[in-house]
Amino acid sequence: MTENIRMGIDLGGTKIEGVILAGSPDTFEILARRRVPTEAAGGYNHIVDRVTGFIRQLADEFELATPIPVGVGMPGSLTRDGRVKNSNTVCLNGTQFRKDVSQVLGQPLPFANDANCFALAEATMGAGNGYALVFGVIMGTGVGGGIVYQGTLWEGGQSLAGEWGHMILWPNSDQECYCGQRGCVETYLAGPCVEKRYREATSTSCTLATIIEKYSRREQPATEHVSNWLDNYGRALANVINVLDPDIIVLGGGLSNAAPLYDEGRAAVARYVFNNELLTPIVPNQLGDSAGVLGAALLVS
Ligand SMILES: [Zn+2]
Repeated sequence: MTENIRMGIDLGGTKIEGVILAGSPDTFEILARRRVPTEAAGGYNHIVDRVTGFIRQLADEFELATPIPVGVGMPGSLTRDGRVKNSNTVCLNGTQFRKDVSQVLGQPLPFANDANCFALAEATMGAGNGYALVFGVIMGTGVGGGIVYQGTLWEGGQSLAGEWGHMILWPNSDQECYCGQRGCVETYLAGPCVEKRYREATSTSCTLATIIEKYSRREQPATEHVSNWLDNYGRALANVINVLDPDIIVLGGGLSNAAPLYDEGRAAVARYVFNNELLTPIVPNQLGDSAGVLGAALLVS
C-alpha cells in the first residue's frame, strides 16, 4: 500500500498540470503526471470546473480514496479576504477561487503562488535539499522568489516574503513597474524589460538569450546591456543576502540557464554583499519545469 498520497495542481494560463506523489520528503515517488488545457477563455466558472474536474478525474483514474489532499499553485497571490490578485489569468483576479474550488471538492485547499511552490520543491526535492534556509529565485518574464526554512514555506503575514522583484533598486529610475512603483528589481532583471531597453537603444529586437550570446562574443552594445543586467542582479541579490543570509540560493525561471549569472553575476553579488567574501552557493535548479507542480503537492502538510 502506497503511503501519504497527495496531489499537486499547477494552474497556468494555458495548461493545468497535475501530479500525484506518494511517500515522504526523502523518498517521494511520482505516481502520475498529467496536463490538460486551462481553456481560460471560457471564463471563471469554466476554470473552476476544469480544475475540479481534473482533480476528480485523476483521483478516479488511479482509484484513489477521496478526498485526496490537494495543494494548488498558480501565479498571483490572495488578498487578506481571500481574493486572487496579480494573476496573469486575468479573469481569476478578484475572485474567491480558492474558496470556490475548496467548496466544490469539499476539502481545504492549501494554496501558494508559483514562486513559492518552486522554492518549496527545490528545497525539499531539488538543489536546496539538505540546506536549512533556502531562497528560491524565479527570473524570467517576471522576477519573484520564495523562502523555505527547514522544509517549511515562509510566506509572511501579508504573503510578501521573498518578493525581491519589487524591491526598489533605483529610486530615481524612469523604469515604471506594473506594481505602480519605479525602478523595481524586476524592471532591471526580467527578460522583457532588458529586451525593451536593448530595442530602444539599438532599434533591433533580440531575445535576452541572443543578447547574452552577443555578450559572450564581446559584441557591443550587447556587452554593455548584459554587464548592466549582471551588475543589477548583483546589487539586488546582495540585498537579499544581507537581510536573509540563506544557506543556498536556487535559481529558476527561463533566465536561470544563463551561464553568466553563475560567474560574472556571482562576482557582482560578491561586490555588493556586506562581507569581504561570498560564501552563499548560487546554483541552478534541479527540477526544471516540474518544480511548480511538485511544490503544489508539497503544500499539503
Ligand atoms: Zn514593482
